[in-house]
Amino acid sequence: MPLRGRLAPTPTGFLHVGHARTFAVAAARAGTAGLVLRIEDLDTPRCRPEFAAAAVADLHWLGLDWTAGPDVGGPHAPYEQSRRADWYLEVWRRLEAAGMIYPSPHSRRDVEEAATAPHATAAEPVFPPALRPVHRERAAAPGGVPWRFRVPDGRTLEFHDALQGTVRRTAGVDFGDFVIWRRDDLAAYELAVVADDHAMDIAEVVRGADLLTSTARQLLLFEALGWRPPAFCHTALVCDAAGHRLAKRSGGLAIRDLRAAGWSPADVLRQPIATLAEPPHA
Ligand code: GLU
Repeated sequence: MPLRGRLAPTPTGFLHVGHARTFAVAAARAGTAGLVLRIEDLDTPRCRPEFAAAAVADLHWLGLDWTAGPDVGGPHAPYEQSRRADWYLEVWRRLEAAGMIYPSPHSRRDVEEAATAPHATAAEPVFPPALRPVHRERAAAPGGVPWRFRVPDGRTLEFHDALQGTVRRTAGVDFGDFVIWRRDDLAAYELAVVADDHAMDIAEVVRGADLLTSTARQLLLFEALGWRPPAFCHTALVCDAAGHRLAKRSGGLAIRDLRAAGWSPADVLRQPIATLAEPPHA
């Protein structure tokens, strides 16, 4: 059974060595159905076309290729989430029709003030159930307000990860009701990713381990939509020589900086990070 994977960079900066390594794992694990390249450019104005173009160029230089793309632009054109708003709205409608989501005007500050103490694995304050609406009419459109998915409090989501083994996250403890639609009327990350991984027939999602809790959220969305979820493989996060997690601004460890410094694609994928932090022929 050919397995299709995906590369899903967010063009808010240049890709770094951590992205390169995660994408190389995705490429190695994808079956003959190959990879989809999906530019996750929903977060305007933080996403910029020049970073999307740079990501494509960096992937070519690394020797990573993708086989599937949208009908418009040919098989090697990347999907762009910014062009897929109609599909995300359709998914919003299905969730609303199923009564799984609700408008939630509360600011981040309201949530932080009302949240219970975060659990050890909760990376952010858990949305307090007291802020859920008691009763409301169904809406025809999301409008200018954020929407949240109502999580089943106390339910533990368990999934097998190809690298991390068995992973468990409990709704209402590790994460709470999460945003699926944004105040600026754009789909939020969790909705867009699930909508696309389903529509693009992705068999296995390979991404960084910072998204493990998001996987539990996404499993709830797949279930609510009646879709079969993909398999998951979360790669260990790459840290710099000082032990800090790489961010898009990680100077010097961006793929294009390493290339300019004289490292080869194989070096970028395999050399220890501390080695890459020095010029290649010093
Ligand atoms: N676009 C996300 C990122 O660049 C990855 C999302 C995903 O793989 O699900 O961090």
